[in-house]
Amino acid sequence: MRTFRYERASTTSGAVALLAEAPHGAFLGGGTNLVDLMKLDVARPDLLVDVRRLTSDRVEELSNGGVRIGAGVSNSQLAADPLIRRRYPMLSQALLSGASGQLRNLATAAGNLLQRTRCPYFQDVTTPCNKREPGTGCSAIEGHHRDLAILGTSPECVATHPSDLAVALVALDAVVRTEGPDGERVIPMTELHRLPGAEPQRDTVLRHGELITAIDLPPLAFAACSYFRKIRDRASYAFALVTVAAAIDVVDGVVRDVRIAFGGVAHKPWRAIKAEELLRGGPAGEDQFRRAAEAELADARPLAGNAFKVPLARNTMVRTLLDLLEGPR
Ligand SMILES: Cc1cc2nc3c(=O)[nH]c(=O)nc-3n(C[C@H](O)[C@H](O)[C@H](O)COP(=O)(O)OP(=O)(O)OC[C@H]3O[C@@H](n4cnc5c(N)ncnc54)[C@H](O)[C@@H]3O)c2cc1C
Ligand code: SF4
Repeated sequence: MRTFRYERASTTSGAVALLAEAPHGAFLGGGTNLVDLMKLDVARPDLLVDVRRLTSDRVEELSNGGVRIGAGVSNSQLAADPLIRRRYPMLSQALLSGASGQLRNLATAAGNLLQRTRCPYFQDVTTPCNKREPGTGCSAIEGHHRDLAILGTSPECVATHPSDLAVALVALDAVVRTEGPDGERVIPMTELHRLPGAEPQRDTVLRHGELITAIDLPPLAFAACSYFRKIRDRASYAFALVTVAAAIDVVDGVVRDVRIAFGGVAHKPWRAIKAEELLRGGPAGEDQFRRAAEAELADARPLAGNAFKVPLARNTMVRTLLDLLEGPR
């Protein structure tokens, strides 16, 4: 058994200071991912700084028309929030498509974004894994990789990021507010998570001891017409094979604006920039949606066991945009 210290700070700066002095410490949110990884001996923090009740647990309207989500808001509370359901329905749908009611009651908004990959080798300390132990190799490339990435992979790692919420936040151009040893930062969600490159052990651009304090959603009127579709092996309690988070603004048959992100396809939530650019200003229809999806996925480099994800991602994007065109669900 590994021992560790447990601390609670009374201020966010106090929590940051505690971790600054503990290079092997970690913040604890709801613990639904971190504690599991500790039991598997994948995570071995010697200090846990509990921040679940320290950061805000409120969803508030901002003066610019956007919305601020406290890092400590539970996944259940966020999914049920009337403002979120009305103005950003894809966020609520993304949350409700993940985990279970009990897990969502405990899990926090910040913890959800920083949950670690579900690659089976990452969770099995008897196998080589560059993400868990840099330099040991990647067991998935020649092993079980059906659920893993098709875009932005590296020879070091082909894992996917598991958070559904993060995919919807990337589509919405949300930003994350942090407080760390070097002060406060605002990080666009599109830049929070990394591609694996030569350092798959680093999931995000956060520095050690940097605390997420809130997530800000920009005002985006057409996000009221948004949808999150999750394709998975079971209808509930399963991680994604492919997800699409999308919002579209169509006037007189022409796409005035559009937001699209994929989940389950890469080491980070994948914002479909190429597809968006192709669609903006052009006619809205199935052929255009298909061509845009194909352009976005042209760089896909699937492995032997997950090539099915390329047509699956294309079809999911097309169906989701068509559903949005056909009106409110
Ligand atoms: C059986 C099961 C099924 C699941 N299915 C899904 C699913 O389908 N889709 C999905 O998206 N998720 C799913 N999840 C994952 C679940 O959503 C996450 O476990 C949860 O959101 C993590 O939140 P937490 O607050 O418990 O994080 P914790 O486990 O407490 O922490 C996770 C990470 O975040 C860090 N952290 C926590 N708070 C902060 C902060 N404020 N600032 C900086 N770092 C912080 C911790 O140090 C840790 O590294 C599932 C989990 C389980 C167990
Ligand atoms: S894909 Fe990444 S997480 Fe999975 S075994 Fe390879 S290095 Fe580890």
